[in-house]
Amino acid sequence: MTRYERPRSVAEAASLLAAGDWALIAGGTDLYPAHVGRPIARPLLDLSRVEGLRGIRRSDSGWTIGATTTWSDVIRADLPPLFDALKAAAREVGGVQIQNAGTVAGNVCNASPAADGMPALLALDAEVELQSAAGSRRLPLDRFVLGSRRTARRPDELVSALHLPARNATARSAFSKLGGRRYLVISISMVAAMVELDGAGRVAHAAVAVGSCSAVAQRLPALEARLLGGNAAALADCVAPDDLAPLTPIDDVRGSGAYRLDATATLVRRALESLAP
Ligand SMILES: Cc1cc2nc3c(=O)[nH]c(=O)nc-3n(C[C@H](O)[C@H](O)[C@H](O)COP(=O)(O)OP(=O)(O)OC[C@H]3O[C@@H](n4cnc5c(N)ncnc54)[C@H](O)[C@@H]3O)c2cc1C
Repeated sequence: MTRYERPRSVAEAASLLAAGDWALIAGGTDLYPAHVGRPIARPLLDLSRVEGLRGIRRSDSGWTIGATTTWSDVIRADLPPLFDALKAAAREVGGVQIQNAGTVAGNVCNASPAADGMPALLALDAEVELQSAAGSRRLPLDRFVLGSRRTARRPDELVSALHLPARNATARSAFSKLGGRRYLVISISMVAAMVELDGAGRVAHAAVAVGSCSAVAQRLPALEARLLGGNAAALADCVAPDDLAPLTPIDDVRGSGAYRLDATATLVRRALESLAP
């Protein structure tokens, strides 16, 4: 490492980014393991002390998850059932030490196909806020993560927050992960689902997202469309085999593509069953 800076404000971080080629770091739980046995060639810009970036806030339009909010922060926060999927994912990210240091935004920016936060954030319709010296912009999460280890972030930008739209009090979500063992494992498949009901108890909004079964976690739009207007008690009955068509799971040491698809169909049904009132 040639240089290390720990700015205290977003403006300071953005002005450093505008003037050089930095590697950003938050918790370091992805960045450091990726450099085991070799030096970090670029200067490091550590976001962990930037004021105002940590925590989850509610506003009239929805929720803001600051960029340095850790998984432990998510687990400890007092949040409505809308967040149950993200909380469940948070409990599955490594062990407690990793959850204490690792951030939600770091998980997204690292853009791993197996990032546990992605399905929940996709199901919650997250938008990514990017900040540079020139200003800020927002991108829907599915337009921010472009591929395995690829995002739409420009080199002069940092991610400052994730934004989730407001939902009514009926909104709730669920997360289900399959790994080779119960904890401390890279996912073979994981599923997050979210439903919001209307005044008559019918599904007004539905989202289902799958991770580890394609280069980037995917929503299942055909299934979501079929869930709309349905009875919340019978969500799992709506699942059809073709619903998994957007997925392109690979064969690797953790499982074959065929196994992943089969397991995912079960995870989707379980996640939807768990959302029944
Ligand atoms: C032992 C171990 C177990 C793990 N288990 C899991 C697991 O079960 N599931 C899982 O999903 N992950 C797991 N991880 C990976 C990691 O902990 C998570 O992805 C974590 O959320 C990363 O956050 P971080 O703050 O540590 O990211 P960092 O390592 O600090 O950064 C990751 C990447 O994102 C970039 N970045 C970070 N913050 C920003 C920002 N605000 N703006 C722009 N770019 C940014 C960095 O430049 C870097 O490229 C594990 C890691 C370890 C070491």
